[in-house]
Amino acid sequence: MALPSITGYTLGELTELLKPLPAFRARQIFKWISRGARNFDQMTDLSQELRKTLSERFLVMETSVADTLTDSDGTIKLQIALQDGTKIEAVVLVDGEGRKTACISTQVGCPMACAFCKTGSLGFLRNLNAAEIAEQLYHCQAAAGDIANIVVMGMGEPLLNLSNLRTAMNIWSDPAGLGMSRRRITISTSGIVSGIKDLADNGPEVRLAVSLTTANEAMREKLMPVSKTNPLPELKEALRYFQSKHDKRITLEAVLLKDVNTKKEDAIALAQFAKGLDVIINLIPWNPVDGMGIDGTDFKEPTDREIDAMVAELERRGLTVTRRYRKGRGVSGACGQLGSVETFKKE
Ligand code: SAH
Ligand code: SF4
Repeated sequence: MALPSITGYTLGELTELLKPLPAFRARQIFKWISRGARNFDQMTDLSQELRKTLSERFLVMETSVADTLTDSDGTIKLQIALQDGTKIEAVVLVDGEGRKTACISTQVGCPMACAFCKTGSLGFLRNLNAAEIAEQLYHCQAAAGDIANIVVMGMGEPLLNLSNLRTAMNIWSDPAGLGMSRRRITISTSGIVSGIKDLADNGPEVRLAVSLTTANEAMREKLMPVSKTNPLPELKEALRYFQSKHDKRITLEAVLLKDVNTKKEDAIALAQFAKGLDVIINLIPWNPVDGMGIDGTDFKEPTDREIDAMVAELERRGLTVTRRYRKGRGVSGACGQLGSVETFKKE
C-alpha cells in the first residue's frame, strides 16, 4: 500500500492531522507544498528527525508528470500519472501578455457523454481525490512558472466531484499557501442544476461557466445528454438563483459545429436564453476529433464566415461575445481533445 499524500488537506485539516505537532509546523509544511516541494527533505526549516518521521507516514506528492508536450503556440500539456496507473491531463495556456492559465481535470474520463467531446467518448472511470486535483496546479507551476488563472475545464464534470474540488480550491486559495484569489478560478459545468445550486448556497465564490452549446432543447439533448435530466428552463432558473446570490457575470460557452448550431435561429435562441441573466457568450470553434458526429453525419469545424456571422447576430441582440482561440491543437490539448488511449491504461 502506498502512503497517503499530504497535498490533499486544507490547512485546518493538516493541522488536525499532524497533532501533537504545533500548528506553526503545519503552516510551514503547507507553505512548502504550495511552493511545489516533492519530498520532506526539501523542507529545510524542519528538523532532520521530523522530516524522517513525516516521510515514513506520508508522500509529499502522489502523482507524477509522465509526459510534457509543448505546442508551438506556447501551450503545454502535461500527462499526469496517478497511483493506480491511469492518466489525466492538465494544460497551461499562455495569453498574449504572457499570463498563464492552468486548465485542471476533475475526473478520469467523464460520464456526461457529450457527442462532440473526446473526453466524453472515453467513458468514466472515477472521481479524482483532492490531492490529485490540487497537485495538478503544482505540476503546472513547475512546468510553466506562476499561474495567474485556473479554469476547471479539463477532463470530467466538476460539479459531480464538487466536494473534492472544494477541498482543492480551499487549498489553492489559502493565504498561508498560494493565496490564489477565488475570482481567478472558473468552474465550467455541462449544466448540472443541483450542483449549480449547491455552489450558489455553499460556495466557494468562484466564477461559473456553463457549456450551453445550444439553446434549442431538442438539439441540446442530442449533443449533450445532460439536458434530458437538466432541461434548459431548469438550468436557466439555477443560473438566476446563482446570480441572485453571487451577483457575478456567468460565461455561457458554445462549441460551434458547422451547420449544427450556427444558424440565425440558433443565435436568436441563445439570446432568448440569455435574457434576464448577466452573461458573456464565449464561442469555441469545435476542435476536431475523428469520427464524432450525430445522425450519421460527422461534425465539421465551423468556417470563419459562420463564426463571424454568429458573433454579429449575437452582438446585434446586445450580447457580449468573445471567441476562444484554437490553442493547443498541436498537442491535442485544446478544448475537448483531452484524453487518449493512455487514459485508462494501467501499467
Ligand atoms: N465538463 C465541463 C468542463 C470541461 S469541457 C464542461 O463540459 O463544461 C470544457 C469545454 O470544452 C466545454 O465548454 C465543452 O463544451 C468544450 N468542448 C468539448 N469538446 C470540444 C471540442 N471538440 N472542441 C471545442 N470545445 C469542446
Ligand atoms: Fe464531459 Fe465536458 Fe466533455 Fe461533456 S464536454 S463529455 S461534460 S468533459
